[in-house]
Amino acid sequence: MSFHPAEWRKHFPLLANDSRLHYLDNAATGQLCEAALDAVTHHELTHRANVLRGTYRLAELADAAYENARRQTAAYLNAASADEVVFTSGATASINLVAHAFGETLGAGDEVALSLAEHHSNFVPWQMLRERRGVTLRFLPLAADGRLDLNRLDEAITPRCRLVAVTHASNVTGAVTDLAPIVAAARAVGARVLADGAQAAQHGPVDVQALGVDFYAFSGHKAFAPTGVGALWGAARALDALPPFLGGGGMIGRVTAAETSYAAPPRRFEAGTPPIAQAVGLGAALDWLHAQSWLALRAHTAQLARRLLDELAALPGLALLGPRDFQARLPVVAFNLDGIHPHDVCQLLDQHGVAVRGGHHCAQPLMDFFGVPGAVRASFAPYNTEADVDALLAGLKDVMKKLR
Ligand code: PLP
Repeated sequence: MSFHPAEWRKHFPLLANDSRLHYLDNAATGQLCEAALDAVTHHELTHRANVLRGTYRLAELADAAYENARRQTAAYLNAASADEVVFTSGATASINLVAHAFGETLGAGDEVALSLAEHHSNFVPWQMLRERRGVTLRFLPLAADGRLDLNRLDEAITPRCRLVAVTHASNVTGAVTDLAPIVAAARAVGARVLADGAQAAQHGPVDVQALGVDFYAFSGHKAFAPTGVGALWGAARALDALPPFLGGGGMIGRVTAAETSYAAPPRRFEAGTPPIAQAVGLGAALDWLHAQSWLALRAHTAQLARRLLDELAALPGLALLGPRDFQARLPVVAFNLDGIHPHDVCQLLDQHGVAVRGGHHCAQPLMDFFGVPGAVRASFAPYNTEADVDALLAGLKDVMKKLR
């Protein structure tokens, strides 16, 4: 099936208006698609009201739009029910929600397993839980290329394990985690599994039922939707068992001076006014993404990343981080140029119109594992083209000429 990135690019207003920008920081934030922009504009102009509380017509329209976004998100994730989708402000909020709500049920002697390849969003909340509840953290071993070593899962997933919190795909190496053996190991000891899908969800529809996990967290802004919104999917069996995290309007059954009962999920976890228009934008973006031909889109981005990897490997003094093979690998490429700080590389590349990120990528434990302070990262979306790779490579040659 043929795919034309230039055509896709036309659906992204910022890129359509700036033909000289080589935007290769998609792992940080994807560009907003027009489907989401149009949905947000339409909602704000015609349906703006608070949700799940008003009985007038406009409020009912807002309710319908908000719940439609929940159904669209559920469809993208192949959730069994829309009630399994909790809107949050993003992956970080989703993971913190689990760390607090599920964490509330844990105590000394219980263990949470995670890895050194996690983004800080799936690392720090568990350290904070350790402080609050005295749980023990265990780290899933990594192979030398930064992938999880699936042959040694039993070193971290012990009979005391209550939750495995692991990234679906690394924001540094792009390595996709094979979740099946992790889910099997967790099930064998009665532990739940949370997958951090912040990097994976924008590369095509996700099937949470096939993954077999209990919780799946992701952010809208990385999936071409507005900022300030994301979701926590939780299997009904897992969400039903959780106490609320935040208290406030919308999450209650009945409140008296003596006590409060709580609403059923997902509302139990959506205290206060949610990000309504942003959720509508997220639903529209996911609905649009759902209709795309992902085989062709993934082949395109993989081809760009593979070409970049091959050409980078030939540059003198360039060290790649992460796996070299393209098995289960997202189009994310991290590297260092010997003797040049990643920030300097990024600043000079900016002069070539190339936007890439440099630094520790909110993954300092992984940087420590690799023994580097940081890295430059180029990350692709389907609107990227060979011209973006050309510009990055030309820019890097200029960086080496100027800074070496
Ligand atoms: N997890 C991973 C793997 C990420 O890459 C990111 C963001 O880069 C996050 C979590 C946090 O996402 P957000 O900042 O949108 O909450």
